[in-house]
Parts: sequence; structure tokens; C-alpha cells
Amino acid sequence: MKKYVYLFKEGAALEMPLAKKKELLGGKGANLAEMTGIGLPVPQGFTVSTEACTKYYDDGAKMGDDLKSEIIENLKALEKITGRTFGDPKNPLLVSVRSGARESMPGMMDTVLNLGLNDEVAAQFAADTGNERFVYDSYRRFIQMFADVVMGFPKSDFEHRFDAIKEEKGVELDVDLTAEDLKEVVAAYKDAYKKHAGTDFPQDPIEQLMGAVGAVFGSWNNDRAITYRRLNDIPGSWGTAVNVQQMVYGNRSETSGTGVAFTRNPATGENKLYGEYLMNAQGEDVVAGIRTPNPIDTLKDQMPECYDQFCKICDTLEEHYKDMQDMEFTIEDGKLFMLQTRNGKRTAQAALRIAVEMVEEGMITKDEALLMVDPKALDQLLHPNFDNDAYKAAKSVAVGLAASPGAATGHIYFTAEDVMEAHENGVQDMILVRNETSPEDIEGMVLAHGILTVRGGMTSHAAVVARGMGTCCVSGCGVLKVDEEAKTLVLPDGRTLTEGDYLSLNGSTGEVFAEQIKTVAPEIGGNFATFMEWADAARTLKVRTNADNPRDAKQAVEFGAEGIGLCRTEHMFFDEERIFNFRRMITAETVEAREEALGKILPYQREDFEELYRTMGKYGVTIRFLDPPLHEFLPHTDEEIKPLAESLGMSFEALKARVESLKEFNPMMGHRGCRLAVTYPEIAAMQTRAVIEAAINVSKETGTLITPEIMIPLVGEVKELAFVKKTVVKVADELIAESGLDMKYHVGTMIEIPRAALTADKIATEAEFFSFGTNDLTQMTFGFSRDDAGKFLQDYYSNNIYEHDPFATIDVDGVGQLVKLAAEKGRATRPDIKLGICGEHGGDPKTVEFCHKVGLSYVSCSPFRVPLARLAAAQAAVKEKLGK
Ligand code: ADP
Ligand code: MG
Ligand code: MG
Repeated sequence: MKKYVYLFKEGAALEMPLAKKKELLGGKGANLAEMTGIGLPVPQGFTVSTEACTKYYDDGAKMGDDLKSEIIENLKALEKITGRTFGDPKNPLLVSVRSGARESMPGMMDTVLNLGLNDEVAAQFAADTGNERFVYDSYRRFIQMFADVVMGFPKSDFEHRFDAIKEEKGVELDVDLTAEDLKEVVAAYKDAYKKHAGTDFPQDPIEQLMGAVGAVFGSWNNDRAITYRRLNDIPGSWGTAVNVQQMVYGNRSETSGTGVAFTRNPATGENKLYGEYLMNAQGEDVVAGIRTPNPIDTLKDQMPECYDQFCKICDTLEEHYKDMQDMEFTIEDGKLFMLQTRNGKRTAQAALRIAVEMVEEGMITKDEALLMVDPKALDQLLHPNFDNDAYKAAKSVAVGLAASPGAATGHIYFTAEDVMEAHENGVQDMILVRNETSPEDIEGMVLAHGILTVRGGMTSHAAVVARGMGTCCVSGCGVLKVDEEAKTLVLPDGRTLTEGDYLSLNGSTGEVFAEQIKTVAPEIGGNFATFMEWADAARTLKVRTNADNPRDAKQAVEFGAEGIGLCRTEHMFFDEERIFNFRRMITAETVEAREEALGKILPYQREDFEELYRTMGKYGVTIRFLDPPLHEFLPHTDEEIKPLAESLGMSFEALKARVESLKEFNPMMGHRGCRLAVTYPEIAAMQTRAVIEAAINVSKETGTLITPEIMIPLVGEVKELAFVKKTVVKVADELIAESGLDMKYHVGTMIEIPRAALTADKIATEAEFFSFGTNDLTQMTFGFSRDDAGKFLQDYYSNNIYEHDPFATIDVDGVGQLVKLAAEKGRATRPDIKLGICGEHGGDPKTVEFCHKVGLSYVSCSPFRVPLARLAAAQAAVKEKLGK
């Protein structure tokens, strides 16, 4: 029979790499097993594997009898190990039930503590320990968590009753409630439970346990979990494991407590223990912001032995995992227990510092360091800081905790929904202001430029999530008063801000400003430069950028771009005067009129290219000829048509009719790309002239010979390419001959229509290079429009049909196969053919890895994605080298 449940000891002994262990036991379970294996003080328990979760869903969301009996067998084994008995009032074994997927999903699935308590066990346990307060504190926590996590009853109902009793007793803090008070809380909770369930709170510990395990499995498919997975590229098929672990009690006494810590500072990367703890507390108290926790340093004075032991454990763990660790611990009556460890989430700044310093410390190799940093995180370093002068002139109105660095300025919103709505209405910079955030807020948090919370510490939900996303966050700013319903924020000076008002946050200092402060682009050097040098040395894939103006091109070169992979020429027409002439060109009824209009556009276009060539110096520039559907250029209003008609010497009615006749039902599959050049070869002739003349002029000016690269878009048939190329070659050869330069040039094509991929061997007879236009290729392979798919893709995610947006990460199974096939066919015809990818996918790490694997020569992405692509390319090469 298949094994579904593993004692921590058994998990420790499994002969498999840690990554495999995590697949089986989940991240938390695998690490609890590892810590057990290296002899750290871990309360013992067992893990119900992720395979059991998969089976649970295969069986129609039910736990089979086999699984239940396997759990009971392991419970018996745990009783042996601990010397306590589950459900026995004399010497009860209480457990926690903890979810744990392969990758940590913070706050996504909940934990139940103190399971195994019932009225009888509580009474006896209280009598035997002589510590009623502790036992009833544990019991009330258990009922509340069970009601919430397992039964899904509204939390607020329990919270209200709790607050009512606190108020009645006149106490502020939970810890000030006496044993008698807590018994009242338990009674009130049981009452609330019965109201919702219609039955009494379950007294049978086995029933409690099975209910909790089933609920963890069930939570894998709640909406929050699905959203988080989609945002983080975690497949739904993984499932979660469940850990059942003996309880240790941080709420037992004043020499008990619980805390969280990082082996290094997760915000800056500094090699110094960093964390928080609370005495006489349990579970989530530290992160929930109920009381303000103490910094870990004070533990040194409060409990020196525990502190020393903890520091040693930190060293052991870093040495074992070769990475910075994020740990949870509990102290019970002065004795230290480790409850969790995992590789800690960190800011990009910290990630680079840790990676570089660990190499310097000799703990890891450069290759390992390269794999430690998430390429997407680099983005954080490229984003704004406050302009120095504006910052100095600004006056902060409050200071909270510096939870996630960076600077943000924008309009305030008080709920995640309002942020999302503002986004839909086109607001650019939103700041989310909350008392505290919860996992329901995740989509609003993703969109917000900054997050401000009144409650919660450095490890609160808001802080953890913001650091993960690289969003600036100030947490625990307790001097502010926020009323989320009234949508008001009252400052310490008495002023009230309302929705839409400006606020600025400094996530590196915790400062809050009730004004807009100018932000500036960041500088990159130090660890960033060192690290990127290692990345460049490791990668084989080249990285180019998509840019059509000198400013973007310059930015991209600063970020390390090695050329322009895609210069879209249509953007160059959107200027008012240019578009006027462009419209004259497309509505013209004779070749002469068209050529006259094109003649007006030529000088602009040539100047644009000259500027780009000057900016890019020695690097290649691939210029793509006109691509978009005609309708994007047509005049729409009568006001636009009138002057145009005049200048063309046409009647208003005649032009209006002509415009009508050019409209298409399906413009994305209409008269666009090279199809335009087939109908109007003059356009290709003009663009060729602009490119070649610009190259000639700048070559003469700088003395460096440029090799222009001309790219014909939207080709589906080799003859179509040959037709357009004929015009290009004719114009180019004439101009070059006249110039007296020995200029070479290349003509290539986009592969973005499935037919082009399928016939790539033929197309390569004409094309000297291919650039995969994966936006269109995805659109046409899936048969849905990029601009509309967002509306229904949501339903595909929630039904687990597609797991992520195929326009963001390449669809390896479909679109990827076309890329692979076309690359092979292209090389078969022309072994030295240059292959690249441009479009959104070029800046996606998984797609970059795919491009490395199929042997493309370069990826091209937007300027701010260039560092990401460099690192992703390096990681792909390192993984290949290490056989990962
Ligand atoms: P999450 O994945 O949300 O961090 P955990 O399973 O780690 O949830 O549980 C949350 C907290 O509950 C832990 O940080 C720890 O403080 C507490 N906890 C979990 N298991 C135990 C246990 N066996 N004994 C004492 N406290 C526990
Ligand atoms: Mg935890
Ligand atoms: Mg395209």
C-alpha cells in the first residue's frame, strides 16, 4: 500500500534531495524533518503528504478510510515518542495542525493550535498543571481557530464576544484576562459555535483532528489560494501537505513566549540576527499586531541562555541550507523549540547583499549565488526613490515601521476594492491605507504603489507581502487613526485626509508624508554591479531591448542591453504633424499623392533613426517596418477628416466614404504588417530609405560602419516576404552604391503567424534572421485576442483550465512548440540564422529559460526588464551546467 504519512523522523531519513522532499512533504514538513535530522529541538509530529492531498481531490474532496487509519497509526507512534496520550485528560497530547505547500504561501492557509482539548481534558489538565489560565487561554484559542479555519464561521462573531468580555472586565490586553475571565470566553465561544453549527463544539479529539486535516486540504482550493498561486506561478496540481505536531506552549508562563526571526536582516541584508518576540503568547500573536513585540536583541538580557542557543541554531541552519533563514520559535518555561525554518523572503537589495557576502564568506559559489536571487526581484532596485531636494523640503507627519523599502507617492484608498476600481479608472499611483491587511486584500496590494498600515509589526501580513512584491510599505504606524468605512485618515496633528488625497511613504525609514513628493529613478552600483558582472559572465544568451526612442534606448544600455531587438516604427507616427501626413498617405487615391505624403514623413523618420544609431553606438538596432492595423491611423472624427480632405483636394463626403471603406471587422487579423507593404510598396521604400540614409549619415559622422537590420512583420508566406524584400533591396542597394560605403545590411522577419512557424524552412531562404513575436504568435495560436482575453481568462483560472496568463509566460506546450519547430527549420535552411524573441515574453524569467533551452541567440525586452533578463539568462546557463 502506498505510504501517505511520515513521522518527522522518517522524513529526516528519506534519501532524496531537499527539493524532492518538499514536493512530497511540503516546505514546512520537509524542513521540520530536516531540523529533526540535524538534531535541533523540534516538537515531534508527522506529515500527511501532498500526495494525500492530490488523492483527496481525486476522491471527490473526501478523506478515505485508509488515510484515516494511517493517520491514527502515526498518532499512536507520536504518543509513544512524546509519552502523552491524545484525548487522555490525565496526560493529554495536544497538537497543532499546520498546512504546508511545496513553496510557502504566507497567510494563505491557516493553522489550528491546541487541538485535542475538550471540556474534560481542559478541566483535568488545568488541575494537573495548576495553571488554569494557560489551559483556558489555549482552549479559547483552539475553539476560535477551529470555528474559523475548519468550519469557516465568521471570525467577527468571536472577536466581538471576546472584546465584549475584555471591556466588561476593563482590561486592555489579552494577557490581563484571568483564568475565570477566560473560562467565560470559552463558554461564550462555545455558544457562538453552537449558534453557527447547530451542534455543540466537537468533544471527540479524533473528530477534531480529521476535521482539521480535511479543512487544510480543502483550503488548497479557496479563492485566496488560487489567486496567490496565479500571481506566483504555483501550479494547482501540487497540493498541500498537512503537519500534525505536538504543541509546545508559549503562553504557559512569563518565561514562555513565541517569536519569529531571520538569520540576516531581510530588508538590508546585513549579517545580523533580526526578529521579534512576545512573552506569554502563542502562535500568530507576534504577527497579528495584538501587542507590540520586542526586538530579538532584548532576549539577550531577558533569557541569555535561550538567546545563545538560538544564535548557534541560526549558524547551524545557515550552514545547512546555505541561505538566509526565516524561523519561528517558541519558548516553553525557558526551553527553546524550533517550529519552522525556510529560506527567508527578502528585498532585492538584501538578496544581492546576502548573495555577494555569502560568496565572500566562502559559504557558496558564484553559481549558487546567481541562483539565489529571483530575477523578478531586481525590478525593485530599478524603481523610484524620492528626489533628494523634494524629500528634504517635505515634512513627515508620522513615522511607522520601515517594513519594505523604496519610495511611493500617490492617492490614498482605504480598501483593496477601491484600489482596484481606481486602477480601472486609470489612476496611476495608488496608496493603500488600512488598519491592517489580510490575504483578501492581495489583489489591491499588487496594484498599490505603497502600503500603509496602522497595526502590525515588521512581520505582519502587509510587511511580508509588500517585501515579497517589492512594494514600498510602512506598517504599524499607530499614531494614525484610520476609519476604513468612513474612508478617513486622521493625522496626529488633527488633519483628516480622505480618499484620493495625496500621501507619500518612505519604506526605508517608515516616514509618512501628507503630500506629494517628487520621485526619481534609482542609481545602481555596489552589490548590484558585482552581481550582474557574475551574471554576464555566466550567460550565453544575449539581451537586447525594445525601444523606439533615444531615451528608452539609453536607459536600456545603462541597464546592460546589448542592442535593440525591436524598434517599432509606428510609434514614430503618432505625433500630430506626422499622423496628418500619414493619414494623407493612407487615404490618398493615387500613387503620386501617396508618395508626396510619404516624402513629408521621410525626414522625420530618418532623423529618428539617426538619433537611435547615435545612442546605440556599436550595438545592433533591429528596425521593424510598419506593423499595426490601418484603423489605428484613420481619422475618426469629422474635425479630423475636414482638414485632411482639404489638403488632399477631396470633398469631405468622398474622404469620409473612403475612411468608412477602410474599416475592418477584425483589424488584428486585417490589413496590417507586411500586408500594407504589399498593397503600398511605397511605404516599404520610404522606410528603407529612412533606415539606410540614417545609417549612412551616422556611419560617416562617427566613422563606425553600421550594419542596419530591417525586420518585416507579420509574414505568413515566403513569397510575401520575397515581394517586400525586393523593394527593400532595390532601394537599399542604390543608396549604398551612391554612398560609396561598404555597408552590409540584413533583412529578416518576425515569426508571429503560426503558418510562418510551420513553413520556417522556406521563409529562411529569404530571411537572414527571425524574431519571434510571441504576443501575436500566442494570440493567433490560442485564437483569442490579447486585448479581450482578460475578460474571460479569470474563469479559466478559477476552473483550473489555464493556470497563468499565456501572454505573460510562454505557453511551452503549444506556442513554445511552434518556436522550437521554427528554430529547427530555420537552422536547417540557414545554419547561421540569428534567432531572437521580442515582446512581453522576453522579460519573463521562465520564458527566458525556455529561449536558452531552444538555443535562441537573444531575447529582447522593455528597458526595465533588461537586468531581469540578464539574470534569468545566467540562471538558465548555470542550471544547465549544474544539470538542474
Ligand atoms: P503559517 O504557515 O501561517 O506560518 P504555521 O503552521 O507556521 O502557520 O503556524 C503559525 C504559528 O503557530 C507558528 O508560528 C507557531 O507560533 C504556532 N505553532 C504552530 N505549531 C505549533 C506547535 N506545535 N506548538 C506551538 N506553536 C505552534
Ligand atoms: Mg509559520
Ligand atoms: Mg506582431
